[in-house]
Amino acid sequence: MTSELDNRDTALRVVNIVEGTSVDGPGLRTSIYFAGCDHHCPGCHNPTTWAHDAGRSMTIDEIMYIVIENDFNVTFSGGDPVYQLSNLLPLARRIRDLGKTIWLYTGFTFEELWAMPRCRELLELVDVVVDGPFIESERDISLRFRGSRNQRLVLAAESRPGAVSLWPEG
Ligand code: SF4
Repeated sequence: MTSELDNRDTALRVVNIVEGTSVDGPGLRTSIYFAGCDHHCPGCHNPTTWAHDAGRSMTIDEIMYIVIENDFNVTFSGGDPVYQLSNLLPLARRIRDLGKTIWLYTGFTFEELWAMPRCRELLELVDVVVDGPFIESERDISLRFRGSRNQRLVLAAESRPGAVSLWPEG
Protein backbone atom coordinates (compact mmCIF):
# COMPACT_ATOMS: atom_id res chain seq x y z
CA MET A 1 0.00 0.00 0.00
CA THR A 2 2.76 2.43 0.87
CA SER A 3 4.24 2.36 -2.62
CA GLU A 4 0.82 2.97 -4.19
CA LEU A 5 0.42 6.07 -2.05
CA ASP A 6 3.94 7.32 -2.56
CA ASN A 7 3.75 9.18 -5.83
CA ARG A 8 7.03 11.07 -6.15
CA ASP A 9 6.06 13.13 -9.20
CA THR A 10 6.53 16.84 -8.70
CA ALA A 11 3.06 17.63 -10.00
CA LEU A 12 -0.40 16.29 -9.31
CA ARG A 13 -2.77 14.69 -11.82
CA VAL A 14 -5.97 16.70 -11.84
CA VAL A 15 -9.12 15.69 -13.73
CA ASN A 16 -11.07 18.87 -13.04
CA ILE A 17 -11.29 21.93 -10.84
CA VAL A 18 -14.77 23.31 -10.14
CA GLU A 19 -14.70 26.87 -8.89
CA GLY A 20 -17.60 27.86 -6.63
CA THR A 21 -19.44 24.57 -6.12
CA SER A 22 -21.84 24.05 -3.19
CA VAL A 23 -22.16 20.25 -3.31
CA ASP A 24 -18.80 19.15 -1.84
CA GLY A 25 -19.04 20.69 1.61
CA PRO A 26 -20.50 23.82 3.18
CA GLY A 27 -20.49 27.16 1.38
CA LEU A 28 -18.97 27.85 -1.99
CA ARG A 29 -15.80 25.84 -2.49
CA THR A 30 -13.02 25.22 -4.97
CA SER A 31 -13.28 21.48 -5.59
CA ILE A 32 -10.22 19.76 -7.00
CA TYR A 33 -10.86 16.35 -8.56
CA PHE A 34 -7.66 14.32 -8.52
CA ALA A 35 -6.97 11.39 -10.83
CA GLY A 36 -6.59 7.86 -9.59
CA CYS A 37 -8.71 5.48 -7.56
CA ASP A 38 -8.30 1.76 -6.97
CA HIS A 39 -11.42 1.31 -4.85
CA HIS A 40 -13.57 0.77 -7.96
CA CYS A 41 -16.85 1.03 -6.08
CA PRO A 42 -19.80 -0.40 -8.09
CA GLY A 43 -22.04 2.56 -8.94
CA CYS A 44 -19.22 5.11 -8.67
CA HIS A 45 -20.42 8.46 -9.98
CA ASN A 46 -17.19 9.15 -11.83
CA PRO A 47 -15.26 6.10 -13.05
CA THR A 48 -13.43 8.24 -15.62
CA THR A 49 -11.29 9.44 -12.70
CA TRP A 50 -10.03 5.94 -11.81
CA ALA A 51 -7.00 5.96 -14.12
CA HIS A 52 -3.94 7.33 -12.35
CA ASP A 53 -2.90 9.12 -15.54
CA ALA A 54 -6.31 10.68 -16.20
CA GLY A 55 -6.66 14.43 -16.57
CA ARG A 56 -3.64 16.68 -16.73
CA SER A 57 -0.54 17.35 -14.73
CA MET A 58 -0.65 20.54 -12.64
CA THR A 59 2.03 21.95 -10.40
CA ILE A 60 1.19 23.01 -6.88
CA ASP A 61 1.76 26.63 -7.95
CA GLU A 62 -0.76 26.28 -10.78
CA ILE A 63 -3.37 24.84 -8.42
CA MET A 64 -2.66 27.50 -5.80
CA TYR A 65 -3.14 30.27 -8.37
CA ILE A 66 -6.73 29.06 -8.88
CA VAL A 67 -7.35 28.58 -5.14
CA ILE A 68 -6.09 32.08 -4.34
CA GLU A 69 -7.98 33.71 -7.20
CA ASN A 70 -11.29 32.16 -6.10
CA ASP A 71 -10.72 32.75 -2.38
CA PHE A 72 -13.09 29.89 -1.44
CA ASN A 73 -12.54 27.04 0.98
CA VAL A 74 -11.27 23.91 -0.72
CA THR A 75 -12.39 20.31 -1.27
CA PHE A 76 -10.13 17.47 -2.37
CA SER A 77 -12.11 14.85 -4.32
CA GLY A 78 -11.60 12.56 -7.26
CA GLY A 79 -10.78 9.82 -7.78
CA ASP A 80 -9.22 9.37 -4.41
CA PRO A 81 -6.76 12.18 -3.62
CA VAL A 82 -4.93 9.99 -1.10
CA TYR A 83 -3.24 8.09 -3.95
CA GLN A 84 -1.20 11.26 -4.59
CA LEU A 85 -0.28 11.71 -0.95
CA SER A 86 3.32 12.87 -1.41
CA ASN A 87 2.33 15.96 -3.34
CA LEU A 88 -1.07 16.36 -1.71
CA LEU A 89 0.61 17.09 1.62
CA PRO A 90 2.53 20.22 0.50
CA LEU A 91 -0.55 21.42 -1.38
CA ALA A 92 -2.69 20.98 1.74
CA ARG A 93 -0.12 22.86 3.84
CA ARG A 94 -0.16 25.83 1.49
CA ILE A 95 -3.96 25.93 1.50
CA ARG A 96 -4.02 25.77 5.30
CA ASP A 97 -1.46 28.59 5.41
CA LEU A 98 -4.05 30.73 3.59
CA GLY A 99 -6.53 30.03 6.40
CA LYS A 100 -8.80 27.94 4.18
CA THR A 101 -10.67 24.85 5.33
CA ILE A 102 -10.16 21.57 3.51
CA TRP A 103 -12.67 18.75 3.05
CA LEU A 104 -11.28 15.43 1.84
CA TYR A 105 -13.31 12.81 -0.03
CA THR A 106 -11.67 9.40 0.10
CA GLY A 107 -12.60 5.76 -0.38
CA PHE A 108 -10.45 4.85 2.64
CA THR A 109 -12.04 4.88 6.06
CA PHE A 110 -10.78 7.26 8.70
CA GLU A 111 -9.38 4.28 10.60
CA GLU A 112 -7.47 3.07 7.52
CA LEU A 113 -5.97 6.52 7.03
CA TRP A 114 -5.03 6.70 10.69
CA ALA A 115 -3.14 3.41 10.38
CA MET A 116 -0.94 4.76 7.59
CA PRO A 117 1.70 7.05 9.17
CA ARG A 118 2.02 9.57 6.37
CA CYS A 119 -1.76 9.79 6.09
CA ARG A 120 -1.75 10.91 9.71
CA GLU A 121 -0.01 14.08 8.46
CA LEU A 122 -2.86 14.64 6.06
CA LEU A 123 -5.42 14.18 8.84
CA GLU A 124 -3.71 17.04 10.68
CA LEU A 125 -4.28 19.33 7.70
CA VAL A 126 -7.88 18.60 6.71
CA ASP A 127 -11.01 19.66 8.56
CA VAL A 128 -13.50 16.99 7.49
CA VAL A 129 -12.92 13.57 5.94
CA VAL A 130 -15.84 12.17 3.97
CA ASP A 131 -14.71 8.61 4.35
CA GLY A 132 -15.23 5.14 2.99
CA PRO A 133 -16.25 3.62 -0.32
CA PHE A 134 -19.56 4.31 -2.01
CA ILE A 135 -21.81 1.30 -1.34
CA GLU A 136 -24.78 1.03 -3.68
CA SER A 137 -26.97 -0.85 -1.20
CA GLU A 138 -26.42 1.99 1.28
CA ARG A 139 -27.19 4.75 -1.25
CA ASP A 140 -29.36 7.51 0.16
CA ILE A 141 -30.00 10.69 -1.81
CA SER A 142 -31.22 12.50 1.30
CA LEU A 143 -27.73 12.47 2.84
CA ARG A 144 -25.81 15.72 2.96
CA PHE A 145 -22.49 15.83 1.12
CA ARG A 146 -22.21 12.04 0.73
CA GLY A 147 -23.76 9.27 -1.31
CA SER A 148 -24.14 6.24 0.92
CA ARG A 149 -25.00 5.72 4.59
CA ASN A 150 -21.67 4.06 5.47
CA GLN A 151 -19.81 7.26 4.62
CA ARG A 152 -19.20 9.67 7.48
CA LEU A 153 -18.32 13.35 7.79
CA VAL A 154 -15.44 12.91 10.23
CA LEU A 155 -13.97 15.86 12.11
CA ALA A 156 -10.34 14.95 11.57
CA ALA A 157 -8.71 16.95 14.36
CA GLU A 158 -11.09 15.69 17.05
CA SER A 159 -11.24 12.04 16.03
CA ARG A 160 -9.34 8.92 16.92
CA PRO A 161 -10.07 5.29 16.00
CA GLY A 162 -12.83 4.21 18.34
CA ALA A 163 -13.72 7.81 19.15
CA VAL A 164 -14.83 9.42 15.92
CA SER A 165 -16.46 12.86 16.04
CA LEU A 166 -18.83 13.76 13.24
CA TRP A 167 -19.46 17.10 11.61
CA PRO A 168 -22.54 18.32 13.49
CA GLU A 169 -24.46 19.63 10.50
CA GLY A 170 -24.34 16.37 8.58
S1 SF4 B 1 -13.77 5.88 -3.82
FE1 SF4 B 1 -15.03 7.42 -4.87
S2 SF4 B 1 -14.02 7.75 -6.85
FE2 SF4 B 1 -13.21 5.85 -6.01
S3 SF4 B 1 -14.50 4.24 -6.92
FE3 SF4 B 1 -15.37 4.76 -4.91
S4 SF4 B 1 -16.93 6.33 -5.35
FE4 SF4 B 1 -15.58 6.19 -7.16
